[in-house]
Amino acid sequence: MARRGLLLILSSPSGAGKSTLSKRLMAWDPTIRFSVSATTRPPRPGEVDGRDYYFLSREAFANHVQRGEMLEYAEVFGNGYGSPKAPVIEALEAGRDVLFDVDWQGAQQIRNSSLGRDVLSIFILPPSIEELERRLRFRGQDSDEVIRDRMRKSRDEISHWAEYDYVLVNEDLQETEEKLKRIVSATRLRRETQPTLVDHVRELNKEFDAR
Ligand code: ADP
Repeated sequence: MARRGLLLILSSPSGAGKSTLSKRLMAWDPTIRFSVSATTRPPRPGEVDGRDYYFLSREAFANHVQRGEMLEYAEVFGNGYGSPKAPVIEALEAGRDVLFDVDWQGAQQIRNSSLGRDVLSIFILPPSIEELERRLRFRGQDSDEVIRDRMRKSRDEISHWAEYDYVLVNEDLQETEEKLKRIVSATRLRRETQPTLVDHVRELNKEFDAR
């Protein structure tokens, strides 16, 4: 393995563009593994178990948490959400990056976990609150009431912006996507994520010695 896999965390208030940017990042590099969350909320029309979420009963969810099988978990709008640990470990051991679409609570727990040293966290801000609401409405997925709930939660989410390594204001989607890719590309080259550099430099020194 030339480098250790990264835990790529994308957070944003709902509607700022996190899912869109996640999809584009994975289309750019299909080796990135998406961390499918587990949830106790019921599936929405079109959502597929194991692709969009792992849909679990309250009891099954609580059992996973109790056995320490969630990397992070939280209660949001009365439902449990969490990231199962096993697929993450498996991907990282294969040297693959894992992408997390989680809120600030999830991001904090992943940073504070035993895998925290390989976290790259990125926060997406909307250009304005008016635009945030416009995008939620344009997406056409939520009722007025859900949109109001999401907008209320946004203020809390945004208040955690300074806990992230990078912050992107998602005005022009194309530009934000490019910036995101550059951040990921650069982070993959960090000395700490390339443990095999030590061996490489040892080989270089051997070559010097042999001259
Ligand atoms: P989130 O995952 O953060 O809730 P989405 O990725 O679902 O947000 O984006 C919300 C809506 O805004 C979608 O309809 C998406 O196509 C649109 N959108 C995302 N980024 C931009 C952008 N930079 N400019 C305009 N619309 C955008």
